[in-house]
Amino acid sequence: MARSNQRRCVYCGSHDSPTIDHVVPLSRWREVGVRRRVLDNASNRVVACLQCNQEKGAMLPQEWFDLHPEYRERFVKKAKYISNLVKEIAGL
Ligand SMILES: [Zn+2]
Repeated sequence: MARSNQRRCVYCGSHDSPTIDHVVPLSRWREVGVRRRVLDNASNRVVACLQCNQEKGAMLPQEWFDLHPEYRERFVKKAKYISNLVKEIAGL
């Protein structure tokens, strides 16, 4: 059970095709005003299903949650370990 939960998409809850997603995309480090290595870090990585990961692409969390407001609550619950800095950038 714990194992399958860990592999569950933090956005939509799907167990299908788990991938690693960067909550704040690495490509947008300049824009969010941090060093790239701050984002290339476990505290910015979550499990997301392939479909969400592909759809999210290089969106910032705000852009993603504007598109899918229903994903925000699960994300906030499941992604407690993400850093305060990432949370701040994500507007959480
Ligand atoms: Zn998903």
